[in-house]
Amino acid sequence: MRPRAPRPTLPAMFDRTDRPLTEPHAIRVIGAPFDGTVSFRPGARFGPAAIREASDGLETWSPVLERDLARVAYADAGDLDLPMGDVAGALSVIRAAVEEALEAGAAPFVLGGEHLVSLPAIEAVAARCPELVVVQLDAHADLRDDYLGVRLSHACVMRRVADIVGFERMRQIGIRSGTREEYALMRDHGTLTTFRPDDLEALADWIGNRPLYLTVDLDVFDPAALPGTGTPEPGGIDWWTFQRFVQVIRGREIAGLDVVELAPQLDASGCSSVLAAKCVRELLLVAGAN
Ligand code: MN
Ligand code: MN
Repeated sequence: MRPRAPRPTLPAMFDRTDRPLTEPHAIRVIGAPFDGTVSFRPGARFGPAAIREASDGLETWSPVLERDLARVAYADAGDLDLPMGDVAGALSVIRAAVEEALEAGAAPFVLGGEHLVSLPAIEAVAARCPELVVVQLDAHADLRDDYLGVRLSHACVMRRVADIVGFERMRQIGIRSGTREEYALMRDHGTLTTFRPDDLEALADWIGNRPLYLTVDLDVFDPAALPGTGTPEPGGIDWWTFQRFVQVIRGREIAGLDVVELAPQLDASGCSSVLAAKCVRELLLVAGAN
């Protein structure tokens, strides 16, 4: 453990391997503690803080990637102050923070928060990267046009993303829940793929050298591995499957990414937060390698 530098306003991130915002950095972590539209169990607003707290207990070295966070230039901007009852207001604060990161030459890494926080991030990144492709890990399709009449909901987030980038620039992986209409959309547009080795290889080819936005809804994991999420869905992946996916995005141009839907208080053991933090570590190592 390295000695702690005094920095009272922000909790430790991965043994304080993060840099001050004033120093050049390739990745900027932005906490978006928002869960204003969740459809089932709230609590994702506590996700970013729980990820930071759990991160401090993890090693900075990844034995799979053979890289150490100490060598990744990332900064933590802390948590945004979001108006919980004002969805449009919260989204515009997130978008401004992401734009600020892009302006500084950093790829945004948003910590949710519920899945809707990905929308302003993807909007901002897509505005700068016309070739952007989006890959979603999730148990749910999130392709409803509206949820109980609301178009800005975590249940509609990928439909709104499709409005921006088009279905042809989206891939969805791990999906095991949706309406008949959502499955028809995925089938018609060919967005749905799997973690089977041949599909992962095809996904890598599909991404090619285009800039990638990766959005990881943590409920892609099996509830046995990650019960601390608002809308758990049986039949999910384990850690090693995720690790195989990480190999697919290794070496890609990662323009932005997020990890969302951790609701830490729904898992008294704290293991969900540790798994979420370990995901963040692997993704920082991969995104920082470019
Ligand atoms: Mn989702
Ligand atoms: Mn989900």
